[in-house]
Amino acid sequence: MAKEKKNLDWGNLSFKYQPCDYSYVCNYKDGTWEEGGLSTEHTITLSEDAGIYQYCQEIFEGMKAYTTEDGSIVVFRPDLNAKRMADSARRMVMPPFPEDKFVDAVKQVVAGNEAWVPPFGSGATLYIRPFMIATGEVLGLGASDQYQFRIFVTPVGPYFKAGAKAVKLTVPAYDRAAPMGTGNIKAGLNYGMSLYPTLQAHEGGYSENLYLDSRSRTYVEETGGTNVLFVDKKGGLVVPVSATDSILPSITRRSLVELAQHLGIPVEERPVRFDEVVAGDFAECGCIGTAAVISHVAKIEAEGVDVTFPDCGEEGGPVLRRLRDALVGIQTCKDPDPFGWVVKIV
Ligand SMILES: *Cc1c(COP(=O)(O)O)cnc(C)c1O
Repeated sequence: MAKEKKNLDWGNLSFKYQPCDYSYVCNYKDGTWEEGGLSTEHTITLSEDAGIYQYCQEIFEGMKAYTTEDGSIVVFRPDLNAKRMADSARRMVMPPFPEDKFVDAVKQVVAGNEAWVPPFGSGATLYIRPFMIATGEVLGLGASDQYQFRIFVTPVGPYFKAGAKAVKLTVPAYDRAAPMGTGNIKAGLNYGMSLYPTLQAHEGGYSENLYLDSRSRTYVEETGGTNVLFVDKKGGLVVPVSATDSILPSITRRSLVELAQHLGIPVEERPVRFDEVVAGDFAECGCIGTAAVISHVAKIEAEGVDVTFPDCGEEGGPVLRRLRDALVGIQTCKDPDPFGWVVKIV
């Protein structure tokens, strides 16, 4: 029997934290991870000299769990989040959290908070936030010797305020990631420094910034929190890649690419010059990530730039919409999952 759900207004949730029953906690000390398990404590008390406060050793992941039509609770490709977080850890001189243990922790924390997983058809999901912080004291510049891996979950509505509607982007004067810097990992430090340009984008009436490569300011990279994809005028998918390894490897984007290949949609993965975008070479554009899957981009505006995507109405263009529907069909178990991507928890 499925557990009785919490009494929340599921259809009107915002993208906002609310503590649930359990978080998962596991500490690292003396060179090993402890057993770890669920906790009802939702605050953390640390030394004022913990590594997280001094030198920003923090990494995170973002995933979601949702209820399928038959009442199961599932997550999407948690093994890839486990692997990406281990990659992030190595770059930040933090101990990688074992990948099997990560998937097991996600299962434990979602199962423990079953009553908080929004019901099928509500449009809401249970957002899962794994993260790791340096808890040991540091003074000289260096890595900590103690860490905490933690997962909290929280029920959320759609990520972009516009909901499923098409979004508007602008190109900021600021950069997101240095060439060969940390743009390819999910470390908190990448996001703290994007807050100011994001605030400016919002004040200008835009959903997000579209960042160009910071070495040459020639190539399209991604937005502050999503990858981007284009569709050319022949209906092929064009996926920006970075010569300076500064694009975050989105699991949603990689899944859409595999799906496009499966569906026989041509896929080109290559550096994309912003002047191609400005010249109107693309028919569709989308922002790609776990939270929104695909948010269709209606417009990109910047100084001297005004690009619209003619095939992209409020509901998005035909190619990205087809891909989105195919991915969501697999994610919600409405359609068969030939890839084995969906992991059932309850
Ligand atoms: C998390 C994130 C994405 C999306 O990755 P998914 O794995 O698809 O959720 C894209 N770009 C940035 C900068 C991100 O932080």
